[in-house]
Amino acid sequence: MIQTDNGSSNDFIRDKVSDDNRTGKFSGAVVTRFPPEPNGYLHIGHAKSACLNFGLAAENNGRCHLRFDDTNPAKEEEEYVEAIMEDVRWLGWSWGEHLYFASDHFDKLYEFALTLVSSGHAYVDDLTQDQIREYRGTLTKPGRESPCRNRSVAENLDLFKRMRKGEFEEGQKVLRAKINMSSGNINMRDPVLYRILKVSHHRTGDKWCIYPMYDFAHGQSDSIEGVTHSICTMEYEDHRPLYDWILETLGVYKPEQTEFARLNLTHTVLSKRKLVQLVEDGKVTGWDDPRMPTLAGMRRRGYPPEAIRSFCDQVGVAKRQNTIEFAMLEHAVRDQLNKTAPRVMAVLHPLKVVITNYPEAQVEYLEATNNPEDPDAGSRKLPFSRELYIEREDFMEDPPNKFFRLSPGREVRLRYGYFVTCTDVVKNDAGEIIEIQCTYDPETHGGQAPDGRKVKGTIHWVSAQHAVNALSRLYNPLFNVEHPDKEDDFIKHLNPDSITVEDDSKVEPSLTQAEPGSTVQFERLGYFTVDPDSQPGALVFNQTVTLRDSWSKKQHQK
Ligand code: ATP
Ligand code: MG
Repeated sequence: MIQTDNGSSNDFIRDKVSDDNRTGKFSGAVVTRFPPEPNGYLHIGHAKSACLNFGLAAENNGRCHLRFDDTNPAKEEEEYVEAIMEDVRWLGWSWGEHLYFASDHFDKLYEFALTLVSSGHAYVDDLTQDQIREYRGTLTKPGRESPCRNRSVAENLDLFKRMRKGEFEEGQKVLRAKINMSSGNINMRDPVLYRILKVSHHRTGDKWCIYPMYDFAHGQSDSIEGVTHSICTMEYEDHRPLYDWILETLGVYKPEQTEFARLNLTHTVLSKRKLVQLVEDGKVTGWDDPRMPTLAGMRRRGYPPEAIRSFCDQVGVAKRQNTIEFAMLEHAVRDQLNKTAPRVMAVLHPLKVVITNYPEAQVEYLEATNNPEDPDAGSRKLPFSRELYIEREDFMEDPPNKFFRLSPGREVRLRYGYFVTCTDVVKNDAGEIIEIQCTYDPETHGGQAPDGRKVKGTIHWVSAQHAVNALSRLYNPLFNVEHPDKEDDFIKHLNPDSITVEDDSKVEPSLTQAEPGSTVQFERLGYFTVDPDSQPGALVFNQTVTLRDSWSKKQHQK
């Protein structure tokens, strides 16, 4: 893969567009479209398609249309239209004036259908859906012609117009292209172009009771809008001859369809049908549940849009199917947040520490660096006092050899603060540790001992009287198998431990005013994002990603 000036990688589609520009195939114009069906929220696979289509347009001074493929009125909802627009904008892409709906083109599509009927290239069929399927044949067996196939043009025109008027019931009649019932490509065996659906449409209301099929709407919409490069996923490769046939038979402008492989990710599912099921069955809290592979979920989880774009770029565009490791996406997220996320001190699972030789009423403000990767981020003052919270896991009463954190008699460094030594362990009646007592060495202010003695561990902490209460949600993959998509029943493989809640976390006071959506690094713990469920004085954090990068380590070992 070759990196180009704009940061995007060269791939066969970009090469093709460059060739077309050189040969003047579309007079140097590049017009693409991103065509979601508004029957669910966008997922990371859609982000790949959006980045490709909007990216190509941006790189070539062209334009990319956002076009809703709303040809199936039964499944589509306004909520999805709004959510999809929000997600595309959030990713950083703009369609400018070019927002379209396939339904904007319904009048024109109906005219196109009349043209095909008039020229003898389409006919009204009375076969039922089941019969059509049966007549269609198989990959090894040619199809059979419908008894209605040789209706006269006049009869077809009359019947099709009456279909439109609502004179027939759903399933009673369809309009089919007249192509070739023994074609090796089943899509060419007189595909259905229009069906009767007596349902209102979210945009056209009750104007229509016949609706075009995807194959009849898509290419013609591309043509009407002046799209040059119609980019879609591999499952449409076998539809390309039909795409071309309809436009050529109509004798209208024909864009060029090119297919690429869908993005697949481990430990998740990227199919709206399956995602709808997770939402409707309450397996997740909604489309924006931070465990979902949706853009709304990733936003709530704290993934920056820059990281998603960079991931899509790294994944690249090819014809061959493959599955990308989720860890690679997390790597991109970590990479971005490392540069931008302020560091803060937070304790997920607190244990009280009392520094017995520290004056009771005293508070000191220690200088803490906001982001070592970004000198412009500056520093802040962290309150330090006699009572602190540390991470429960940073103390062990009876530690193994390699444990360098706090334990009885052991001295450690408190981040940005002093050396402290554990002198006592306080337990309740049940024998559980409820408090640690320490002494501090006032000479070690700033974390260095004047006598040069060293400590092996540095731990984080929060001053108890200044701490802000928080709830932290920690995440694991939604599925506990790598390829839930390939299983018979993907629901069975949901990970019961995909979320753990720590409801007694303590965070430093600088976070009091933190806005929902802002992302910070909890030192030593990972990146966390403020959830919109937060209330004043009771923050809710979603773990965005851990600090440890298993993916880049693995790449290194390869
Ligand atoms: P799903 O199976 O998730 O419902 P879809 O293809 O039906 O996907 P659309 O709303 O029709 O969803 O997709 C809009 C665009 O995004 C299409 O061009 C489609 O090819 C593309 N797309 C969908 N899923 C992926 C994916 N996993 N990787 C890349 N592109 C995708
Ligand atoms: Mg689709």
